[in-house]
Amino acid sequence: MIPYRLHAALDAVSAAALMLGSASARRSPIRRPLGAIGMFVAGYSLATSYNDRPKAGRPIPMHMHRLLDAAQGAACLALATRVESPLARNLLHGYGAFSMTAAVLSSPPGPSGVSVPDQAVSPGKLLGADIAYLRCGIVNVAFIGAEGAGDRQWFLVDAGIPGSAAAIRDAARRRFGRSRPAAILLTHGHFDHVGALQVLAREWDAPIYAHPAEHPYLTGQRPYAPAAPEVGGGTMAELSWLFPRSPIDVSGHLRALPADGRIPGLDAWRWVHTPGHTPGHVSFWNDGTRTLVAGDAIVTTQQESVMAALFPQGRIQGPPAYFTPDWRAAQHSVQRLAELAPQSVITGHGPALHGPALRDALHELASDFHYKGLPVASRYLRDPA
Ligand SMILES: [Zn+2]
Ligand SMILES: [Zn+2]
Repeated sequence: MIPYRLHAALDAVSAAALMLGSASARRSPIRRPLGAIGMFVAGYSLATSYNDRPKAGRPIPMHMHRLLDAAQGAACLALATRVESPLARNLLHGYGAFSMTAAVLSSPPGPSGVSVPDQAVSPGKLLGADIAYLRCGIVNVAFIGAEGAGDRQWFLVDAGIPGSAAAIRDAARRRFGRSRPAAILLTHGHFDHVGALQVLAREWDAPIYAHPAEHPYLTGQRPYAPAAPEVGGGTMAELSWLFPRSPIDVSGHLRALPADGRIPGLDAWRWVHTPGHTPGHVSFWNDGTRTLVAGDAIVTTQQESVMAALFPQGRIQGPPAYFTPDWRAAQHSVQRLAELAPQSVITGHGPALHGPALRDALHELASDFHYKGLPVASRYLRDPA
């Protein structure tokens, strides 16, 4: 990763080079655009805090600055198509590629996590007869209940990204026919876990169970804490400030999970409070089969990266870092889950994992959370929200 101070020096050199280039490109069609890009780089660099947070007179934090770097690099690559001189074209190509590389290399790597061997990645049937999961784009939902379970005899955990109602409904029909769920259980209320919640709860006339501390985000009262794109690790993190975090309102269907850990109508399972990623985050645990539905308390792909979110690989890390405002609580939650020593786990993001390699990796993550769980940078490392 390029240190921020070196990055500032590179910006100054870049702005100067662009303006010199413009001055020497007399009678060339790129003279004006090149000068404008140079002024633009100088302008946003002077307004950059060269830190993760804006400060007085320098309103642009580094994660925004990186996007601007990439944009002006792309502009220079586009400009290269308009010059005839091979030398000028090569210089513009080189500079554009350099800028985009610098933008990427200035991004922190994100949490390192713990990788797991391929054989720990669980094919669905190994999870047991009473559970299955469905990937909806970048997020998973889980079905608890044996295939063919009757009306009000099964449970849905979480409700996917917006637009996934049809996919969840179809998967439910394949598994349970026309029968409706007893309830929808929520690990937490982030937008990518409640996308189809309103539609499905209404259609199935099903209660929604969530931890009381999560209710303000499900009854229109409070937005989630701002994202922390400075955690790095990839484009999901870089763009996370754009993700919705305003509350939804499902008050009509919402109920509180009973304080004693029970889940009404689901005797074999308990809920476990696993805050940190959100205040009322819970995981679901079946002690008989040692199956864990962990939500985002742990995930099994590098969710900060778009590529890893779309093509998940097997690994274990703490919660998605850009959306986690309390790391101390998140660490305790990971430790709590590791103590359960699950046989298999379905998480909010990434493939299901099973077996001894899962337990070892989870244990390693919990005991070395400082190095393997935490991001290098986040506004919330020192001041939880
Ligand atoms: Zn989440
Ligand atoms: Zn999530």
